[in-house]
Amino acid sequence: MRSFSKQDIEALRPPVRRPTPGDRALAVVHEKEAYRDNFHQLSIAECLTIFLKGGECPLRCLMCDMWQHTHRAPTPTGNIPKQIEFELSRLQATRPKVLKLYNASNFFAPRNIPSSDLPVIADLIADWPRVVVENHPKFMSAAVLKFSSRLIGELEIAMGLETVHPQLLAWLNKDMSLDDFERACRLCRSASIKLRCFLLLQLPGLTNSENRRWVAKSVEIAVSCGVTHICLIPLRSQSSILAGLLEAGKLTLPTYAQLIQVLLSCKPWGTHSVITADTWNWDLLGGMCAACSPIKKQIIETFNLSQNFDLLDEYPDCECA
Ligand code: SF4
Ligand SMILES: [Zn+2]
Repeated sequence: MRSFSKQDIEALRPPVRRPTPGDRALAVVHEKEAYRDNFHQLSIAECLTIFLKGGECPLRCLMCDMWQHTHRAPTPTGNIPKQIEFELSRLQATRPKVLKLYNASNFFAPRNIPSSDLPVIADLIADWPRVVVENHPKFMSAAVLKFSSRLIGELEIAMGLETVHPQLLAWLNKDMSLDDFERACRLCRSASIKLRCFLLLQLPGLTNSENRRWVAKSVEIAVSCGVTHICLIPLRSQSSILAGLLEAGKLTLPTYAQLIQVLLSCKPWGTHSVITADTWNWDLLGGMCAACSPIKKQIIETFNLSQNFDLLDEYPDCECA
């Protein structure tokens, strides 16, 4: 399959209206999510996600569309602490247990969050029981450990592993090898930082059974690295390159049935790590009609919280499939 450089990826970006720098976050979401503690005990926690507004990621992963929620210039000093402070001040009396600070890039890349803002942010959120941020292995440095040591609660770092298939990982232009991911996990574990990762479902060039095998292998390796939450993201035509491949017939988007099969193949690791499927843009998943789509979404949402794999094969598939 043809490879794409940073320049190719930039050239194919569609024209979109992007946010301007400022001290208000893009959005906040309240949700619940499953959690496995260090003894593998499962619980459900209330969670607040603040979608922070900052400068774009310096990397150019082929499938990424998050740049659309960022501005071109580096994040100005002080913007991110102000966004967090404002959103936390609006919280009602009962505070959720988990705070996710997602900035559509990397929390520890100085271009995305200026280094001088990190201690200010840490002090604002120090007493939250658990804080989750996203970061690429390239930006795992002493700054991560320093930030973590300022928190009273637990820090969790989410990384996009995407796949352990070596050629596909290189094709995704992640600027990362499996070794880099494993090294980043070791660094985090040395400081008791929890780990979460994202994997892509249905990468091009693989048959259904190969896809299942590679996702299961990726889950196995992630668990061996100490990852305790793995989120499967069904591939969508979110970037221009993926949309082009889809149009040229070189990519097929996953179906609900494939998602179920892949989740079931991850069952052996389900007692060590929370395994969830991303339901964002649910309607882009194939193999569903207007009648069965809400029922199927409900099954996945219930599974995501309960981690009950039996739920996945209980529902007889619809005629549309
Ligand atoms: S590291 Fe994350 S934010 Fe940056 S390009 Fe890759 S997927 Fe997008
Ligand atoms: Zn249907």
